[in-house]
Amino acid sequence: MGTQVRPPSESLEAASPYELRLNQSAGASESFVRASLETGDVGFLHSFTTGSTVDGPGVRVVAWTAGCPWRCLYCHNPDTWSMINGKAVPLERAVAELRKYRRGLKVMSGGFTLSGGEPLLQDRFAARLLAAARAMGIHTALDTSGFLGDRLSDAELGEIDLVILDIKTWGEERHRRLTGKDIGPTLDFARRLSTLNRPLWVRLVLVPGLTDDPEIASNIATFSAGLGVVQRVDVLPFHQMGRYKWARLGLNYALQDTKPPSPELVEKICDIFRAEGLKTV
Ligand code: SF4
Repeated sequence: MGTQVRPPSESLEAASPYELRLNQSAGASESFVRASLETGDVGFLHSFTTGSTVDGPGVRVVAWTAGCPWRCLYCHNPDTWSMINGKAVPLERAVAELRKYRRGLKVMSGGFTLSGGEPLLQDRFAARLLAAARAMGIHTALDTSGFLGDRLSDAELGEIDLVILDIKTWGEERHRRLTGKDIGPTLDFARRLSTLNRPLWVRLVLVPGLTDDPEIASNIATFSAGLGVVQRVDVLPFHQMGRYKWARLGLNYALQDTKPPSPELVEKICDIFRAEGLKTV
């Protein structure tokens, strides 16, 4: 492992993942990044946030990883696409950060959620950090697209108390248009979690004109209900808090003028999931 990137001395904490964070590891050499990915000794993190009540049960500490192979048209955090935008954080430093919150999280029936970006792009770091958190008695959750789910062994999945699976839309073509990638690996990962009887939450970001066709919700609902392990479905209203990031990064943002869904639309889509016997909030 090289010494090109010094361990961060300042706090990892951000007020929110909507803080724009760029080039935090700009000096890292290719060999350092490769070795970090192979061993999981170092992770590239956008930030840590505390006090989340939407990323798993109770109150959560969330680590947001940098790096994502998808390019969702509605992405709220395009600064997490590049791993180099994340801060290089030694595994022990991340574990020490979590240790600080251990007691409080227990009191608040909360836990730790690893989100991103796509956490499984850094699968060794993800597996080791989640296992370390669980060993401290902290409830663990992984928020993922599932695209790289086969990078985790069954034993590693056993260290994760909850998988929060983002199903972005339904249908091969639609999925490729929205994310740039195939939906197949996400659905395969969901089926595998079902076979392993691992608890699952499903998430759908509701974007007017993009993911609000009732047929999309209906197909995701039927699929989710059939898994037998889905404890809850979160229908998340699209928002524009990440719009400024697209502009600052010089990216073409197709949803520039898209409005958040109305409460009535959110309710209508939630009803589709409820009709399949699934819990929504
Ligand atoms: S998977 Fe998440 S981080 Fe990656 S592009 Fe899509 S919304 Fe953004």
